[in-house]
Amino acid sequence: MRIPLIAGNWKMNKSIEDARSFMQAVSDRLPEPAQIETAIAAPAILLETMLEMNSANHLRIGAENCYYEDSGAFTGETSPLALSEMGIPYVIVGHSERRSYFNETDDIINRKVHAVYRNHMTPILCCDETMGRLEAGEKIHWVVSQVTGALKDISDDLARQLVIAYEPSWAIGSGKSASADQAEEGCYLIRQTIADIYGDDVANQMRVLYGGSVNPDNISEIMAKPNIDGVLAGGASLDAKTFLQLVNYQK
Ligand code: PEP
Repeated sequence: MRIPLIAGNWKMNKSIEDARSFMQAVSDRLPEPAQIETAIAAPAILLETMLEMNSANHLRIGAENCYYEDSGAFTGETSPLALSEMGIPYVIVGHSERRSYFNETDDIINRKVHAVYRNHMTPILCCDETMGRLEAGEKIHWVVSQVTGALKDISDDLARQLVIAYEPSWAIGSGKSASADQAEEGCYLIRQTIADIYGDDVANQMRVLYGGSVNPDNISEIMAKPNIDGVLAGGASLDAKTFLQLVNYQK
């Protein structure tokens, strides 16, 4: 059984004080992780504060990025080894903002996926899709190539634990979510790609999320789709009350 994962991505939107207030507001109001897993991916500078305040331990505190080497002369980068030592379970890799603003290629993303696994964490691998590619009929090729590129030389056993987020860049931060059917189509395509590479067994175990303007009003319809195991929410994860509405979408 695939446990739903409702994850937030704060991007660079919060101060340490903001993170403290959020943790105070949500800490003992989250579902049991065995029923619904909840996570927030935050900038590295906030992680220690958040971990310290995660008293009920129901929230998975994730990182938004890391480098692909564990240590070395890489000024300003975040070590995956250090994240792992802190007890971080998830690292977002390949977000469309990293691909477009920081020129991350499939090769860099593949190295990061290896680094995250090497340090015993789980990547939340994001695959995007632009409106231009959608309109040009290139969607399938584009999504498939991102998945295969990111997972080069990743074993079956590691792929089984993977989380992939289908995030059309035209839906990110736009307030215009993909429809539940479009989201399902993208997530299905990703699961089929995993089945082609690793077989049905792995494809049926790994989780696929949808991301792009998810909010408390559209989450139930999206979560009802068979190939969608959760969501990655940016804007709607910033406010504690809204995040609690997302994670309690079944109530
Ligand atoms: C994101 O950045 O991963 C995202 C899905 O953002 P939003 O929910 O704000 O569209």
